[in-house]
Amino acid sequence: MTKIEINNVSMNFEVEESSTSALHKIYLHLEDGEFVSIIGPSGCGKSTLIDIIAGLKKPTQGTVIVGNREVTGPGPDLGIVFQDYSLFPWMTAYENLRFAIEHTNENLEPKEIVEKSKKYLDIVGLSKFANKFPNTLSGGMRQRLAIARMFATDPKVFLMDEPFGALDALNRVHMQDLLIYLWSRGDKRETTLYVTHDVDEAILLSDRIVVMTPSPGQIKEIIDIKFERPRCRNDIVKCAEYIRLRSNLLSLLNEEMLDALAEQEKHMRDLV
Ligand code: ADP
Repeated sequence: MTKIEINNVSMNFEVEESSTSALHKIYLHLEDGEFVSIIGPSGCGKSTLIDIIAGLKKPTQGTVIVGNREVTGPGPDLGIVFQDYSLFPWMTAYENLRFAIEHTNENLEPKEIVEKSKKYLDIVGLSKFANKFPNTLSGGMRQRLAIARMFATDPKVFLMDEPFGALDALNRVHMQDLLIYLWSRGDKRETTLYVTHDVDEAILLSDRIVVMTPSPGQIKEIIDIKFERPRCRNDIVKCAEYIRLRSNLLSLLNEEMLDALAEQEKHMRDLV
């Protein structure tokens, strides 16, 4: 069953005299339970696409359907994690979770809300930090809290925009493991669209990887990742298939980077 349908989505930004085609005729369907990553050079429209699916931006053309709902604005069916945590700074870790659960699960009793908040703090290893405010937590802890909040609110789909982009390499590995653990834990895996710059992260996490091109933002290629789950990062990196996929993705991205640089140079020359 298709869970996310992106149908013919285009997005132009008009600023003063100039127009930027951030996305051009994007068609992408995600099946129920699929984990799909989007990868591409800076400026190819990855964040714009996530914002449109999340109902935060309205496309110039095309539609997005999540479940049976055409997205016209944000909703509790869409769980989102951005790179910059987006936690409420005036609430403690516990209060951030509790607030989100209260406002997305209207049928829960107060006692159940408290239990669920504590359970998710525990799952992500933050029970001891329940009463700390976000600015006193490390970047890794803040992102663990943001991930806990997304899972605790039981959305129908997960949208993640470079959630671990600001973390150091070691923290990123821990977070990838935590994400995969939470995502595969229950009977049902939620459909996930995940933006990343990191080729290894994309291969480890995804069922499919969408490579995008800038100016205008378009889908260049979609690559299937067929490693069985659960995946062990130390095992898959040794496979010939992993090395082939990695090198293919890197050369696709390299082509894009070179094209983007040439485009930039041309633009600079035109300005002079
Ligand atoms: P990515 O996430 O791949 O780095 P973005 O989605 O942020 O790319 O941006 C895609 C293109 O759209 C870029 O050229 C960017 O400058 C432009 N863009 C994004 N948001 C706006 C905006 N609010 N106004 C004007 N141009 C924008």
